[in-house]
Amino acid sequence: MTATTSDIEKAADVLRSGGLVALPTETVYGLGANAEDPAAVGRIFRAKGRPPTHPLIVHLAAAEQLDDWVEDVPATARLLAEHFWPGPLTLVLRRGRRVPLEATGGLETVAVRVPDHPVALALLEAFGGGVTAPSANRFGSVSPTTADHVRAELGDAVDFVLDGGPCEVGVESTIVDATGGTAAILRPGGVTREDLEAVLGRPPAVPSASPVRVPGQHPSHYAPRARVVLVEPEKVAAEAELAQELGHRVGVLLPPSPAGTTVGAHAVVPLPDSPAAYARGLYGYLRRLDEQGCDLIIASLPAEEGLGLAIANRLRRAAGPRPAAQ
Ligand code: AMP
Ligand code: MG
Repeated sequence: MTATTSDIEKAADVLRSGGLVALPTETVYGLGANAEDPAAVGRIFRAKGRPPTHPLIVHLAAAEQLDDWVEDVPATARLLAEHFWPGPLTLVLRRGRRVPLEATGGLETVAVRVPDHPVALALLEAFGGGVTAPSANRFGSVSPTTADHVRAELGDAVDFVLDGGPCEVGVESTIVDATGGTAAILRPGGVTREDLEAVLGRPPAVPSASPVRVPGQHPSHYAPRARVVLVEPEKVAAEAELAQELGHRVGVLLPPSPAGTTVGAHAVVPLPDSPAAYARGLYGYLRRLDEQGCDLIIASLPAEEGLGLAIANRLRRAAGPRPAAQ
């Protein structure tokens, strides 16, 4: 059920009284608090089990509010905000005085964005201030793309859940460091590298391109309970069948293939052709395979262009090494 006007007013009151509200955005659901209330911001970290040094994103109702929250907005940042807000682009800029260090993990920079979702925008307008929100999941696990995912992940740790239906984009925002007057992609996401290049007139820097290719360098994040193993697209079916024979309960993210391809596995998700549909569905597929009791997920990386770059980034992180305790 989509949030009503009275739900939005109630949620704004929860924020004013220092509570936590889960809110739909076009990327994933966020776990929001009043950005200017350090105690409320602290509750986000406890609810998620997130290390306090891991900074959050401050969500605003409109690009016109940017100067209230950050210092020194370079022309490049203004250009990107103008083109992509509301939308799945987060800009990292110098922290304004309104932003407590709790929200930035102690950094002198702050991440800001205007989300493109009618419920999120209605809440931000009703509340009036900034809402700091990371994804509404336990730290390290798969981001929620429906209100039910949020309830399953966080239960009573969230005071109010606004339902805005399934998220349209399905992967998190693109994070761009715009502090130096240039633009560097810190995390690929809903706005593609190609979209950024078209507006900037030059390719944005991608400082993380080589480290993410080194196996074992990226600790697990965006991860389902099942172990994720990445193989070449043409080997997905054979590897899945082998693992199934070895006694695993195998889940498969099956790349588009000739009609009639069958895979001997516990559960198979046939992937859509379009990268946008794949991004929208990705986290739901991983959750579904967990629910179906899979202990191993076999997948492959899509072509790393357009939204494929963000999908590949999340799959690599999902396949990354897990902390010993997990
Ligand atoms: P989440 O969407 O849950 O992953 O949380 C927000 C993301 O924004 C995290 O991955 C942070 O690393 C990133 N972020 C927030 N603030 C900053 C910042 N000042 N500099 C770099 N990254 C940031
Ligand atoms: Mg997250």
